[in-house]
Amino acid sequence: MMPVLLIGLTASCQNKPKGSNAMQKKENTVTEKIFKSDEEWKEILTDEQYRILREKGTERPGTGLYDQFFLKGRYYCAGCGLELFESGSKFDAGCGWPSFSIPSEKSSINENRDVSYGMVRTEVVCSRCDGHLGHVFNDGPPPTGLRYCINSASLVFKSEEEIKKEENQTVK
Ligand SMILES: [Zn+2]
Repeated sequence: MMPVLLIGLTASCQNKPKGSNAMQKKENTVTEKIFKSDEEWKEILTDEQYRILREKGTERPGTGLYDQFFLKGRYYCAGCGLELFESGSKFDAGCGWPSFSIPSEKSSINENRDVSYGMVRTEVVCSRCDGHLGHVFNDGPPPTGLRYCINSASLVFKSEEEIKKEENQTVK
């Protein structure tokens, strides 16, 4: 009970002018954080997922499951299951990694300045579990001009049929 209450209060303090009703906002504008120890992550992730999500690794270009993969559906964080991207925003940038022009929700992804390897880049992480996803660059297609260059190992894909099936099961 208490954590939910605290999150609601924090959100309304930070983001809204006095007097507005926090409950009217869509619930996914506030992302509840997930924290796990390294041991706990190792139990639920494969070695490759752990290396990339938790140790900021990068899969070799052209080797990822979703690089040349264009089915209709949605992509979720492999660490915590938060929805990150829709297939409609995916494009083939020819760089060897899955590329997206925009996240499903802006609030599902956080950005960090990354100066490793002698480059200045913008790292993108899952806003719920802080898992490393990849980087965002300014050379994407219109209208955003952005290219979210994401490791396949950080993602789990679900097709539209799978999503519909799951939704029906939750309703019943
Ligand atoms: Zn996550």
